[in-house]
Amino acid sequence: MKLYNTLNHKIEDFIPHNKSLVTMYTCGPTVYHYAHIGNLRTYIFEDILEKSLRYIGYDVKRCMNITDVGHMTSDGDTGEDKMLKGAEREHKTVWQIAEFYTNEFKKDTEKLNIKWPDIVSKATDNIDEYIKIITKLLEDGYAYEAAGNIYFDVAKVNNYYQLSGKNPDDLKTGVRDDVELDKAKHNPADFVLWFTVSKFGNQVMKWDSPWGVGYPGWHIECSGISMKYLGEYLDIHCGGVDNIFPHHTNEIAQSESYLGHKWCNYWCHGEHLNDNRGKMSKSSGEFLTVSLLEEKGYNPIVYRYFCLKSHYRKQLVFSYDSLDSATTEYNKLIGRIKNIKTNDSDINNDDYNHYNGLFKEALENDLNTSSALTVLFDVLKSDISDSTKIKLISDFDKVLSLDLIPQEKKIDNDLKEYITNKIKERSEAKKDKNYELADKIRDELKEKGIIIKDGREGTTYEII
Ligand code: AMP
Ligand code: ZN
Repeated sequence: MKLYNTLNHKIEDFIPHNKSLVTMYTCGPTVYHYAHIGNLRTYIFEDILEKSLRYIGYDVKRCMNITDVGHMTSDGDTGEDKMLKGAEREHKTVWQIAEFYTNEFKKDTEKLNIKWPDIVSKATDNIDEYIKIITKLLEDGYAYEAAGNIYFDVAKVNNYYQLSGKNPDDLKTGVRDDVELDKAKHNPADFVLWFTVSKFGNQVMKWDSPWGVGYPGWHIECSGISMKYLGEYLDIHCGGVDNIFPHHTNEIAQSESYLGHKWCNYWCHGEHLNDNRGKMSKSSGEFLTVSLLEEKGYNPIVYRYFCLKSHYRKQLVFSYDSLDSATTEYNKLIGRIKNIKTNDSDINNDDYNHYNGLFKEALENDLNTSSALTVLFDVLKSDISDSTKIKLISDFDKVLSLDLIPQEKKIDNDLKEYITNKIKERSEAKKDKNYELADKIRDELKEKGIIIKDGREGTTYEII
């Protein structure tokens, strides 16, 4: 598998720490509002990455956080608290807001066939973990206390700018919109690990800590949750490109200072979805949600198809016209698959391996989903047997998750595969003169209403 690694700014061979289990961390949503379809583009890319890794033979343990505390509108330490903003907007408590939008997010992922990660953990459920890390960072001199807050001291780490490729001058006040002068910081790039002096008098999410009652900064959440559930050596960390700086940059600084060694080898980022005003974002007022697309009569899976047609590292511009064309293409595709007959042919292994190899090659090439879709169309155009086609399409859909195979066809094909395997097993038993096993297999099939007949052309079957 080749993946673009933001850390080294190039495409690299993917080599996990442990060959049989890939650990993968993906930054989760801040649950103060609905996810917009831009956010969901990032989750679709991460879903494809996880499923591709599984498809090519890795086992994957994936963890995602739910940010329900500590995230400011600036992504740094300034601006409004996003959760409080949501609570004020809807006259609810932050806890109610968090619960409601977590559920809504989950529904959106289901509509888009995005697999829910193996481990999903709320930021507010891991406070002890952050306190443990911050305590050590203070002891080891990577953090300091000033004006009541605990800050990370970026001057103590080498390569702080490796991931972002940024220049320290970018951080001078006034250059970046979100940097307000915080006089307590030793350096403008320092960031808050633990807030005790809240500028929000109405902050209700607060916990005891050795430094006073307060709450964690956003960046420490992902380091803490990732290390707690996936250990000290992480293979892949993902997010959207806006997470590169400051979020992921700060995660690396604090995690590696805490651990004393390199933490994560591969950093993968999805590009943004834009609309005609630029990057789709919640701060720009109206934004598009999956429910809104549904209200307008669109199938959410068509939005997934629309995303897969483009490469995850390219910006994608959303328009209803392009979604309309994607709908037409998708419906045509499903129509063609429906017309394939499954009962009158066998699966040809050579053909299967040929096209499946091409499909894997596309995914292994830095998740080239548009090439993977081309392989799918090539299968449809080809003259290989119908059963082979259905088997290939149904396997491709384990990654694409586009609801390609109608349920009846799925059942037909699974049954066919089962019978073919049993017949093979029986003829091997006969070759080994294990007639007892051969008879047992024949009886097992008979019980299921499948009658096998041995003839000059080999073994055939009939379903009664
Ligand atoms: P948030 O809930 O704001 O923390 O964002 C959730 C995820 O969506 C993050 O990984 C962001 O990087 C990503 N994201 C935000 N805006 C966009 C966009 N316009 N297109 C694609 N991904 C985005
Ligand atoms: Zn994160």
